[in-house]
Amino acid sequence: MIFSQVELAAADPILGLTDAFKADVRDNKVNLGVGIYKDESGQTPILKSVKFAEEKLLATESSKSYLGMEGVQAYNRVVQTLLFGREHTVVTEQRALTAQAPGGTGSLRIAAEFLVRHTNSKKIWISNPTWANHHNIFSTAGLEIAEYRYYKAETHGLDFDAMLSDLQTAEAGDLVLLHGCCHNPTGIDLDNAQWQRVAQLCLEKQLVPLFDFAYQGFGAGVEEDAQGLRIVASTVPELIVANSFSKNFGLYNERIGAVTVVASNSEEAVNAFSQIKSTIRASYSNPPAHGALIVSTILEDETLKQLWHDELREMRERIAEMRILFVKSLKAAGVEQDFEFISRQNGMFSFSGLSKEQVNRLRDEFAVYIVGSGRISVAGMTKSNIPVICEAIAKVV
Ligand code: PMP
Repeated sequence: MIFSQVELAAADPILGLTDAFKADVRDNKVNLGVGIYKDESGQTPILKSVKFAEEKLLATESSKSYLGMEGVQAYNRVVQTLLFGREHTVVTEQRALTAQAPGGTGSLRIAAEFLVRHTNSKKIWISNPTWANHHNIFSTAGLEIAEYRYYKAETHGLDFDAMLSDLQTAEAGDLVLLHGCCHNPTGIDLDNAQWQRVAQLCLEKQLVPLFDFAYQGFGAGVEEDAQGLRIVASTVPELIVANSFSKNFGLYNERIGAVTVVASNSEEAVNAFSQIKSTIRASYSNPPAHGALIVSTILEDETLKQLWHDELREMRERIAEMRILFVKSLKAAGVEQDFEFISRQNGMFSFSGLSKEQVNRLRDEFAVYIVGSGRISVAGMTKSNIPVICEAIAKVV
């Protein structure tokens, strides 16, 4: 008997919350745990640009034969343009190669497996705090994890000096996980001058950046949000990007992302890419086509691309509006504590500063579900649930 020895896995800190939410029978319950965009009516709609692309695919797709290990090639090209722009030297010098992968998670995992097996990099520095699954993905792949400080609780802001001083202690060949934009969970990003300093430090200390880019277009805009990545890619010789289209195309369950390797010359890029492909071969052989075909169909058609940009802007602006309303409604509910910092955070989340105990009370007494770290998904707020949320917060703070 082998399964008698298996212990029950601990609930996932984010997805376990969704399970608990589903099992909750109270009808005023609100789920602000997992990062899923909701519109004003509380739905997670399929974007119109996606539906149009799917109609086009239904009419024109002629085969379901296997893709290559790297996925849809047209998709891989448009991903590079979104990440770097057409003119970036990593593109023109053919130093970047991209493979489609299953979501941001699958992309991170393929990147980590590749790094562990084919390079001497065995340690990754991740921010404290970070998305909970980073620990999981990197340790499961066999990387040693170290943390750099990132957040200063007193100011609700970036602790940039601490970040630099921790990364100063990293050794040549160590990996540094950087959130491209909309840092999860804090919502606090580096400005361009700070990106430049981090890029310079990576160059001097020969650290290899691994970008997790899951929210392009949810900060200031598609191009604006890529500035940090582009600055770093202009400075360091080697890096990896794991990006996701779950959020910005609303393609959560299509599992669509990509891993892009940037090497110091095109020959090394080809070698590294060949091992990324062999990692994919050993993991799931080749990816599913649908999500990639949707994204490439949209981005290769000027009208659909414009529609997507408009829809993404609408999501971004709705979240920004909810942030402001949230702060205002907390005051209106009688909360004296200053939550103004929430309106300065980027992306889907608000790092509220609520304690674990307050988070538990919100769930147990008021059926308001947020992550244990105090991370609230503002993307799940609507004009109708904000008063309920704020009344509940007013009672626990
Ligand atoms: N990285 C970060 C920082 C995320 O927040 C997420 C999604 N929550 C992912 C990666 C994974 O995205 P996907 O759902 O595409 O796997």
